[in-house]
Amino acid sequence: MDLIKSPLERSKRSPVRTCVGCSGRDDAEALVRLVVNVAAPDGVAPDGVAPGGVARVAVDLGDGRFGRGVHVHLRTACLRKARSGGIARSLRCAVEVSLGELLEQVVEASNRRITGLVLGAWRARRLLVGADVVCKALEAGAPLLIAATDAGVVLERGPITRAVAEGRAVAWGDKTSLGKLVGRDEVAVIVIQDPGIAQEVLKARRTADLAGEARRQGE
Ligand SMILES: [Zn+2]
Repeated sequence: MDLIKSPLERSKRSPVRTCVGCSGRDDAEALVRLVVNVAAPDGVAPDGVAPGGVARVAVDLGDGRFGRGVHVHLRTACLRKARSGGIARSLRCAVEVSLGELLEQVVEASNRRITGLVLGAWRARRLLVGADVVCKALEAGAPLLIAATDAGVVLERGPITRAVAEGRAVAWGDKTSLGKLVGRDEVAVIVIQDPGIAQEVLKARRTADLAGEARRQGE
């Protein structure tokens, strides 16, 4: 499902981070960043990390600049180890969030991230709506199609089936939720024209898929 990267993107190397689960080092892109909010034992949440405090863990799929964070692979084994010890050792606090809650948060954060990216593309006029326009843009090499999960027959159109086959497509939201983002009643297909935004949407979608998979394994 990888996009063909532009020379500019290829030259941007992803930093390497250590997984708090397996302790393996990996591309930051292969890991998800957890941001930890720590409440002190008396219930007051200090800014820093209090030894002995209890951590609420949140997922950061943005640019990774806020909060105190740790990185972890989105795999059940790594997440389990991170929960039971890795996060606590790294940040010297107990973790009160369950694995299921954590994965739920990953899915929610992915959806928020995609919503933000789509809105950003819309405001920057780097997004197109409407089957004919979308098909034309895909034929001209647009980097990403977003199709509503209930898009229906429009998915049978040539440029759209090709985009799906080439991995230039993600299924996300339904016609009503996509429509809401761009001020219409219903939208079945959207094209993102900005390669950078397209790449980020793909990444967030993959993250959500991985979390869903890990959730099923954990059941
Ligand atoms: Zn790991």
